[in-house]
Amino acid sequence: MGEQFPKTLTLPYMRKNLVVAIDGYSSCGKSTLAKALAKKLGFIYIDSGAMYRAVTLYFLRNHIDMNDPEAVKDALQHIELNFHSRDYESHITLNGEEVSDEIRLMPVSDAVSEVSANKFVRKDMVKQQQRMGKSKNIVMDGRDIGTTVFPDAQVKFFMTADPKIRAERRYKEMQSKGDTSTSLEEVFENLAHRDYADTTRVESPLTRAEDAVILDNTNITPQEQLDFAIEQVKLHFPQ
Ligand code: C5P
Repeated sequence: MGEQFPKTLTLPYMRKNLVVAIDGYSSCGKSTLAKALAKKLGFIYIDSGAMYRAVTLYFLRNHIDMNDPEAVKDALQHIELNFHSRDYESHITLNGEEVSDEIRLMPVSDAVSEVSANKFVRKDMVKQQQRMGKSKNIVMDGRDIGTTVFPDAQVKFFMTADPKIRAERRYKEMQSKGDTSTSLEEVFENLAHRDYADTTRVESPLTRAEDAVILDNTNITPQEQLDFAIEQVKLHFPQ
């Protein structure tokens, strides 16, 4: 019997090591695009933000002092992260515990930028992310994927959208998941804070890679965004 490709595969990429890097501001729809692209291409989707969030959850639970380098390094040794993909929804486990929902709650969102600015945390996460991309075809989204994790990625996107629209989208998503304890203003403040922290930190700040295609989705639908991205993939990937 011949090799079975997923039904959704549109482009038969036989080569491994193809990387689509998606970076951008908070709540720009990076994961929506990344998941849809991964599904369309038959690639593995990796949500790098979930890794920083899971580390943050561990640090919060264990009261790790971010100002104590030894405590941070020691804590990192006790963290094991794993992804389990179900229908292109990525689920993450922290030391075997499924934490996909908890890492999206406000306590983690409020603390994640401080944790992700730490150089030991970044070094550890980047190493793991690069390992995950070895000999596979992946779509990875985050803040430094096209600049630091995979600077040689064949296709890079830098996503942006109007901050108010982003906050509204994120707020609606939280409401639909039953998180009614957070107001629209709090969501807006959190996004503004994270954008500022992520773009101004010393360790691999969020910045557009020179060769990244800018995608502003303020006024386009997820389908239009996907169509645009597929066109870019066709242009950049070797057939
Ligand atoms: O992608 P998401 O919004 O879930 O990421 C949460 C946080 O993790 C970001 O605000 C950022 O501080 C951090 N992050 C990062 N580098 C990445 C992905 C996420 O610093 N590659």
